[in-house]
Amino acid sequence: MLGLASGNTGHLSVRVPDSDNLLIRARGPAEAGVRYTTVDEILEVTPDGEIASGAKEGLYPPQEVFIHTEVYRARNDVVSVVHVHPPTVVLFTVTGVPLLPIFGAYDPSALKLMLEGIPTYERSVLISNPQLGHDLAATLGAKHVCMMRGHGITATGTTIEEAALRAISLNELAEMNYRARLLGDPQPISDEDIATFNRALGEPGKPISANRTEAMWRYYLRSTGIAGG
Ligand SMILES: [Zn+2]
Repeated sequence: MLGLASGNTGHLSVRVPDSDNLLIRARGPAEAGVRYTTVDEILEVTPDGEIASGAKEGLYPPQEVFIHTEVYRARNDVVSVVHVHPPTVVLFTVTGVPLLPIFGAYDPSALKLMLEGIPTYERSVLISNPQLGHDLAATLGAKHVCMMRGHGITATGTTIEEAALRAISLNELAEMNYRARLLGDPQPISDEDIATFNRALGEPGKPISANRTEAMWRYYLRSTGIAGG
């Protein structure tokens, strides 16, 4: 509903507890996109991207399953991966226009992503084999999110919710920067204010507080009608 995953593309995954396998949104005859994914369209796959369970006629892992398998291989701390193609973020990757830290007070988690640095994977190809997945994971490095030139984003988290909220935050950063540039010449918030936020947000890599993650997640569940209230 936020426009991060329009059409039928994009995929999310999560590690299976006590296993090397992952659960991933699959592609198949009944698919209608990330937003409308059903339980029947989720596959369990091995660290090599092969189907481990959930096999059904015509259902197959996404071609870019290697984004997920290789990020998990490189990052023990990552439990969930979101790969989507938000148009506004893609515009920044193809124009060389930098994202600027232009807000923080109402969304410190988005500012935090920005201040930690957001790497860009420079190739625009589908991540359709393990080597490309490995290269993408290397670009991501120790960060939480990565932009992919002319393609989309990969966001990570220690939960599905955290990975999804980081994808939403990255999109919000791009949306606000884009709109600011339509209006005029956006100015980053001051160094003094960034220093204040840095002190409050803690060291790079520190997770967003669980309370904030839960509250934000509740908000999105209710606003999309997925949960009542
Ligand atoms: Zn993609």
